[in-house]
Amino acid sequence: MSSPNGTSPVHAPAYDYLIVGCGLFGATFARLATDAGLRCLVIDRRSHIGGNCYTERLEGINVHRYGAHIFHTSNKAVWDFVHRFADFNNYINSPKAHRGQALFPALQHEHLL
Ligand SMILES: Cc1cc2nc3c(=O)[nH]c(=O)nc-3n(C[C@H](O)[C@H](O)[C@H](O)COP(=O)(O)OP(=O)(O)OC[C@H]3O[C@@H](n4cnc5c(N)ncnc54)[C@H](O)[C@@H]3O)c2cc1C
Repeated sequence: MSSPNGTSPVHAPAYDYLIVGCGLFGATFARLATDAGLRCLVIDRRSHIGGNCYTERLEGINVHRYGAHIFHTSNKAVWDFVHRFADFNNYINSPKAHRGQALFPALQHEHLL
């Protein structure tokens, strides 16, 4: 279809951004850009969103498909942002290791040497 003067009509692009990958970065960028009034198309080669942080529900349990993830930040703006989308429990990562009869914080490797 052409315009009355014979030129091709100019269409507004359907999207402002094409975002390849829907991990934390792509999803966050898309959310913030959409909140700012921009139009985003997000694609991913995987069949799910979330990238490496993805969890799937297996027999009533949330399983981290690509390895365990713990969210941590000291940035209030980041903390407030993620709370828009999920509730968090008060899990604290404090693995312990046995050596003989003693129990050590597993993240302080020098105690195990
Ligand atoms: C085992 C493991 C444990 C981790 N534990 C923690 C943790 O406890 N705490 C923490 O803060 N961080 C952790 N991380 C790091 C965290 O996973 C990453 O920082 C975060 O997922 C990065 O997000 P991203 O969006 O940059 O990339 P990704 O999560 O990798 O997402 C990228 C997405 O892009 C897609 N993609 C890539 N190329 C293409 C393409 N050509 N076309 C279409 N789609 C494409 C991929 O399929 C993927 O879904 C861990 C990482 C791993 C692997």
